[in-house]
Parts: sequence; structure tokens; C-alpha cells
Amino acid sequence: MEIASRHAGCVDLHVHSTASDGSLSPLQIIERAKELGLRAVAITDHDTVEGSAEALGYPPLPSLEILSGIEISADVPSGTMHILGYLLRLDDPSLRQTLKRVQRARANRNVRIVEKLQDLGLRVQYDEITSISGGGQVGRPHIAQVLVHKGAARSVGDAFKKFLRKGGPAYVPRYRLLPDEAIRMILGAGGVPVLSHPFTLDAKDEEDLEGLLVHLKEAGLKGLEVYYPEHGPKRTAQYERLARRHGLVMTGGTDFHGAAKPRVQMGIGRGDLRIPYRLVEELKAAKV
Ligand code: AMP
Ligand code: FE
Ligand code: FE
Ligand code: ZN
Repeated sequence: MEIASRHAGCVDLHVHSTASDGSLSPLQIIERAKELGLRAVAITDHDTVEGSAEALGYPPLPSLEILSGIEISADVPSGTMHILGYLLRLDDPSLRQTLKRVQRARANRNVRIVEKLQDLGLRVQYDEITSISGGGQVGRPHIAQVLVHKGAARSVGDAFKKFLRKGGPAYVPRYRLLPDEAIRMILGAGGVPVLSHPFTLDAKDEEDLEGLLVHLKEAGLKGLEVYYPEHGPKRTAQYERLARRHGLVMTGGTDFHGAAKPRVQMGIGRGDLRIPYRLVEELKAAKV
């Protein structure tokens, strides 16, 4: 109850469902968002719009707005770059076609990861992984969960550290869209491209990050995910400053994954995140 009253009227624009590596179905996400009293939520699954489309297929609720969303993993030489897309047409043929290509590459990569784990002497089978993925597409967090069940790792984080991280013994790279391609795909479907959790880019300093933002903005980037559980006050202030300086809309979300990331709660993050509805209005204004 206390949580519901503190977060009533807030939004969460970054949530993963069972369509990718989250553990709640789109319907369960809607129910949780209602309980929390959230005013808007966007399901932003990795490289798929299935979760978002399912959520938008339910009868509309007067108190909870559902925004369409996706999160694309982009190909960058170092660090991790994810690009969120909001308010996009989920049935755009070109979007669907590009995503199919990305999804096929992901499936091939997963099979090769399992082969590498088997070569390392671990008894894992591919169908054990698909059986816990809830019917959506498989990601490394599912493989990590199987490794935990088998006692090969203490936690999902430990499984990444021991086996699955970039450069780890069972790591297999996969085909990803280039940042410009991801941005163009989102714009082509009428959406608003937003850079996710900028700290994962591992920029050297503010100048380095700013250079990247300028390049992405030239490619069509429209927003920056400023409010995020891992962004402390200093980072948040820095991202607010950069967003203002470069005319990027500010967004925020928890990156809720359910059981795969149990310390982060929808709408709340690690306990103190409050993302105002005003950001949704600014996002809508950025859609041309
Ligand atoms: P994939 O999309 O299959 O390459 O897996 C990437 C996903 O794994 C990310 O979106 C996170 O949800 C998760 N992830 C990445 N690194 C870690 C880590 N060190 N610990 C836990 N989860 C991670
Ligand atoms: Fe994820
Ligand atoms: Fe992400
Ligand atoms: Zn995410």
C-alpha cells in the first residue's frame, strides 16, 4: 500500500517480459503496474515487439497507459549500447523483417553457447534452456539460470562472470544492428529512438560520451534514458545536463526483469525511483 501511494501517477518506460529475458508475462506486467498505481508503462523487450504487442492487445484501461516499445542491442566496439524505441508502429513490415534477421542470429548464437558449455564439460541441453524461457526468445540470462540450477554457478551474475560475459569461456558474439541502423529502423516505424542506460557505453569521460551523443543525434537519436536504478545523483545530473545541451528528451525506467534481476522492482527500481508522467508527454512531443 505504502509503495502504491508513493508511486501512484508515476511511469516505468523500461520493462522486460517473457517475450525476452523478463520473468513476468505482459499480462502480469499490466497487473503489477495497476497494483503500483502507475500511470504508464512500456514493455521494451530485447530485439522483439511481441511482448509490447501482446500488452497493447488487451482492452485499454482508463488508469494505465501502455506505450509501444522495444530495446535494440547495437554493435559497438567496446561497452554495451542499447537503443530504446517508443511509440512505434509494431506492425511496420520493414521493422518486422529486420527483427526477424536479428532473432535468427540470436537463436544460432544460443546453440553455439550451449555447445561451448558442453565442451567445457557442463551437462546442459538446449531444450532445458528453452523450457525456462517461457516461450519467448532466449537470452544469456536464461542460460545463466540453468547454470545456477545445475550448481555450475552461484547466481546469474556469477554465471556471467564465469562463463557468459563478453570474452568469457562460453561467450559467442552475435550479429547486431549498427547504432545508425537501429535508429533508422525505429524512425522508419514512426518511433522515438532513445539511448538506454548511457553508463554501459563505458565512455572514458564526459567528452567521450558527448562525442558519442553528437554522432547518435546526427543519426536521428531523440532521447536519453536519464532516470535509471544504476544512475546515482551525479550521473543523473550529468545526463540531465547533456540531454538539455543537445535537445534530447529525457526518459526513465527500471529495466525490470523480474526474477532474473530480483533487486530491481517495477516502477520503483531499488526503492527510490520516481519517474513522472511529464516525461511521457515530452516523448510524445518528440514523435514527428
Ligand atoms: P543477450 O541479449 O542474450 O546477449 O543477454 C544480454 C542480457 O543479459 C542483458 O540485457 C542483461 O539482461 C543480461 N546481462 C548482461 N550482463 C549481465 C551480468 N553481468 N549479470 C547479469 N545479467 C547480465
Ligand atoms: Fe535483459
Ligand atoms: Fe538494456
Ligand atoms: Zn533493458
